[in-house]
Amino acid sequence: MKREKQTECLRCGTCCQKGGPALHGQDLHLVRSGQLPLDDLITIRRGELAYSPLSDRIEPVLQELVKIRGTGQDWCCCYYVPAGIGCSIYGSRPMACGVLKCWQPEETLALVGQDLLSRLDILEEGDPHRLLVEEYERLCPCPDMREVEKKLIDPTENILRSLEMQVNTDLSFRDRMVQEFNLSLTEELFLFGRPLFQLLQTFGVVVSESSQGLRLTI
Ligand code: SF4
Ligand code: SF4
Repeated sequence: MKREKQTECLRCGTCCQKGGPALHGQDLHLVRSGQLPLDDLITIRRGELAYSPLSDRIEPVLQELVKIRGTGQDWCCCYYVPAGIGCSIYGSRPMACGVLKCWQPEETLALVGQDLLSRLDILEEGDPHRLLVEEYERLCPCPDMREVEKKLIDPTENILRSLEMQVNTDLSFRDRMVQEFNLSLTEELFLFGRPLFQLLQTFGVVVSESSQGLRLTI
């Protein structure tokens, strides 16, 4: 039987369940007005691995992006309500959601990498959190996770210890900032993205605690 060609959104929610959208320049007013609180955003830093709709592959992110966070460990957009309800912020959903047509993806593909909002675009001039973001990037830049993944196929002891040092520098910076600025976990995920040890866990690295900090094994 011939399948009818899709011509409109069926509001099935599949796109929302795959993950929240990246924010673009046109969405800045939603953040600044509080319609999209910082608590609901997560930063994906340059170097992290993420799905690229252009190549249809998982690739290192070349340019930082800020997107709507998922729910718990799941990437399903935190504003998606199942059981036929759908988007709980439909009238103020980000631009990328408004243009998404899964049956005709050209418009969405044209947006990839264009006019993306970064943390420093979102935080206003004079916001003290800007300094934390800058200091974090200086001390703990995210490595190219594709290169890290390759090294971890058959890692030497030196590679593991070097990553361990980066993991512990990352964690101690976060701990210090959380205490000094009383940051919640959601604020931390916006300001600093996911901690390096979590990114490494996706490659099968086992993280355990020791008296010297976190310890990595394969
Ligand atoms: S754009 Fe496509 S995947 Fe998303 S809700 Fe509409 S029909 Fe479903
Ligand atoms: S903001 Fe709304 S439309 Fe956009 S992904 Fe989330 S639930 Fe879906």
